Amino acid sequence: MMVMIEAKCMACGQSEDTTVDEKDMNRYSANDGYVQTVFPEHTPAQREIIISNHPRNVNNPFSGFMCSDCWAQIGDPG
Ligand SMILES: [Zn+2]
Repeated sequence: MMVMIEAKCMACGQSEDTTVDEKDMNRYSANDGYVQTVFPEHTPAQREIIISNHPRNVNNPFSGFMCSDCWAQIGDPG
């Protein structure tokens, strides 16, 4: 089953969402695998949302999510 997950930007408060297969999310949550291995079809921005929904990060105030707009404002150092 596909489920929608979302994350709230710690900088501007805007929420972004993405859709994941519940089985994949459970697999990622349970075995702590690499997000890009479990979700190869998702973009890096979408994976940030997935990462912030990992049970390890949900209640961790230091794992703040930032939306793509705020990342763009910071600029790409590369
Ligand atoms: Zn933001």
